[in-house]
Amino acid sequence: MLFKSAEAIEKAAKLTAIVFDKTGTLTRGQPSVTDVVLGRPELVLSGVEPQLLSLTPEDILQWAAGTEANSEHPLGEAIILAARERGLQVPAADSFNSLPGRGVEARIAGRTDFLGNRKLMAEQGVGLGDLASRAETLEQNGKTVMFLALASAERRPVVAGLIGVADTLKEHSAEAVRRLQQLGIEVAMLTGDNRRTAEAIAAQVGIDRVLAEVLPQDKAEQVRSLQAQGRKVAMVGDGVNDAPALAQANVGIAIGSGTDVAKKTGEVILVKEDLRDVVVAIEIAKATMRKVKENLFWAFVYNAISIPLGAGILYPLLRVVVSPEWAAFLMAISSLTVTLNTLSMRGYVPSPKREERHSDQGSGLRQLAETPVATR
Ligand SMILES: [Mg+2]
Repeated sequence: MLFKSAEAIEKAAKLTAIVFDKTGTLTRGQPSVTDVVLGRPELVLSGVEPQLLSLTPEDILQWAAGTEANSEHPLGEAIILAARERGLQVPAADSFNSLPGRGVEARIAGRTDFLGNRKLMAEQGVGLGDLASRAETLEQNGKTVMFLALASAERRPVVAGLIGVADTLKEHSAEAVRRLQQLGIEVAMLTGDNRRTAEAIAAQVGIDRVLAEVLPQDKAEQVRSLQAQGRKVAMVGDGVNDAPALAQANVGIAIGSGTDVAKKTGEVILVKEDLRDVVVAIEIAKATMRKVKENLFWAFVYNAISIPLGAGILYPLLRVVVSPEWAAFLMAISSLTVTLNTLSMRGYVPSPKREERHSDQGSGLRQLAETPVATR
């Protein structure tokens, strides 16, 4: 990570609250498939084709990917990516029709498939059956739900399953939040998203203070009101709309993969995407300030003793003076002590890295440590 100034280190050591932006900071910032639910077509309509009765969730994902194969919509891209990740062949569509605000329609292998929201299903006269309640549960958890309906020959389309898509947390977000809370720092989340989505994400990441439905221009205002309550606040963000809040915060922390504006405004830049580096930044700042204070303390003690000695305080009683050679030597020792004490920070390992080493048995670090022995 990059501290742009010494002042940033000093302020980072004193933080009592941290506000995270949600999208792109705590989360990856792009939707990905979280749920694939198989419908039960026999409950929806009798007389469906037998092949529809033996579907697997993989089929749902594969066919949904086929309908979206020509789509450039982020949700469509998420579905195609999910299918590819599972090693599924994305079928080619013969024709494709985007239905704005509702979904897509595509002809694949002589069948007409529909993928879209409730509105599209209602339009096509497709009953949702048991999927309706599943969809509601997913939506309550902040996910976007798309239904897949299939129609062959002259038959009416039948719902085959649904796909839940959501912006997902970055790998280490929850751990970072937990560690910050352990450090006694209050953690909050700030987002323009609706309260339901915001709270679903907050619950996953372990944050209970949620500031949702905040307009971009009001983000800085939220930070200011926390400061007015006496908190020393850091803001962590990635977007253009986070910049005013980053500037308002006592310490603005920008994600390295974020926008240039955020990185210009932030005083600390996290070069990697890993949010545990926020913890590392604070721990390093605290350790640095501790060193600064230690050095000041010992410099004062040292000088308080040696200046009177140099001035000849022992002369009247003991006839002892400090010779110029000794004075020069003692002066050098003083500087050396401070330097050595500071250099001892080279061995400083912040807590996330420390525990990684302990838990990483048999992997990377340990192998590195063992290799020389083996080759010897
Ligand atoms: Mg953002």
